[in-house]
Parts: sequence; C-alpha cells; structure tokens
Amino acid sequence: MFNRTFFLVIKINRKIILAIIALILLLLSASLVISNKTAAVFNTSKKTITVDPGHGGIDGGSSSFGLLEKDVNLQISLKLRKTLVNKGIHVVLTRDSDVSLESKSDLNSSRYRRDLHARKTIIDQSNSAAFVSVHMDAYKNSNARGIKIFYYETSNESKQLAQSICDKVNKMVFNEFLKTTEVKAELGTGDYYLLRTAQAPGVIVETGFITNPTDNSLIQREDYQNIIAKAIADGIEEYLFKAAP
Ligand SMILES: [Zn+2]
Repeated sequence: MFNRTFFLVIKINRKIILAIIALILLLLSASLVISNKTAAVFNTSKKTITVDPGHGGIDGGSSSFGLLEKDVNLQISLKLRKTLVNKGIHVVLTRDSDVSLESKSDLNSSRYRRDLHARKTIIDQSNSAAFVSVHMDAYKNSNARGIKIFYYETSNESKQLAQSICDKVNKMVFNEFLKTTEVKAELGTGDYYLLRTAQAPGVIVETGFITNPTDNSLIQREDYQNIIAKAIADGIEEYLFKAAP
C-alpha cells in the first residue's frame, strides 16, 4: 500500500515536472522570438543609408519648363533624410547643398566620372547597408511620365530594395495622392555606374519626368515631395527590417 502510494506520487510528480519543463521550453522559445524581433528593430536603427541627390553645382542634370533636376533631387533627398532620421536610421548624404563632387575624386578621368566616383567613395566609406540615388527622368516625348526605380540586375538585394520602394510608392503616392491607376511606379534594370560599382546594394529612383507638364508641376509641390520621400523611406525601412538577422 505504502509502495503503491509512493509510486503514484512519483508518477504524478513526473507529470508535473514534465509539464513544468514543457512550460519552461515554451517560455524560452517565446522569449527568443521576442528578442529576435527586438534585435531586428535594434539593428535597423543602427544601419546607415546613403542618400545621393543626383547632379549638383555645374551639373544641373536634365531641365524643362525652367526647372533644374539637381534642385528637385536635393529637395527630395533632404526630406528623405529627415524622414529616415525620424525612424532612427543613420543617414549620410553625398551632398547637402548645390555642389558637384568631382573635386573629391583623385581619378584621372572626366569631370562626370570623377563626380560619380566621389559618390561611390562616400557610399563605400560610410559602410552603408544600402543607398538611394535620387533623380528625375527626361524624354523627348512629353507624354512620358511616372516614377521609375532602377536596380542592378544581378543583385538580389538591390531588386528587393527596389520592389519594397515600388510597393510603397504605389500604395502611398498613387493610391493616396494621385488616386489613379493610370500611372504606376515601374521597376527597371540598368547598368549604371553607382549600381555596378558601389559595395552596398542600391537603387536609382527617378521621381518623375521633368519633361512632362503634370510631373513637372507636381514635383515642385511640398506635399508631393513629402509623400514621395515618405514612400521611399518606408520602402527602405521595410527592406532593412526584412534584411535584419
Ligand atoms: Zn539625373
């Protein structure tokens, strides 16, 4: 009788112990998931993004209706920096004023090449997780319009970043602002110098066609520039979150 009770107690105790072990394992795995998520957020906030406003100084980029591409690129890039910094992301700008960058390169090449080489050097030296070059498109046919995001064909990260930005642009700029499905942001590939040579994955965002009257007047509006900057920033943030360990 004593023995039977004794074994029964051991049996019950074993069940309780197993239940406690299961509970501990469950809590441990749950806390691991939570700490992984916290780590991802933490890592994202420690990442550096280089924002590259295209052209500048002597190089106005494309121009139409009295508007110079270099000025729009800088205005949007400054807004993009502000939005990214507000998200806790560290930002490096290749330029924050109306200057070209060829004097920062020791390459024995054309002004244009040296300017681009200086931008690549800034991206590489900042140890960036990614970079975004901000430009505007131009075309002989003034009907061409819309936002285009170019990535480097053989880089999976570049493509993911482009897709992430494209999705946000379509959601925020078109669904919320333009409210039309006529013009959607498009992805494209291009063998551009910065995309090919910079160590970090990057994209070139063409924020509209300077040669199209609608794009040209929209891009000069503060609220339009803000929503484009926010869409690009949200796209970058999502990319960083997915890429975080
Ligand atoms: Zn350009």
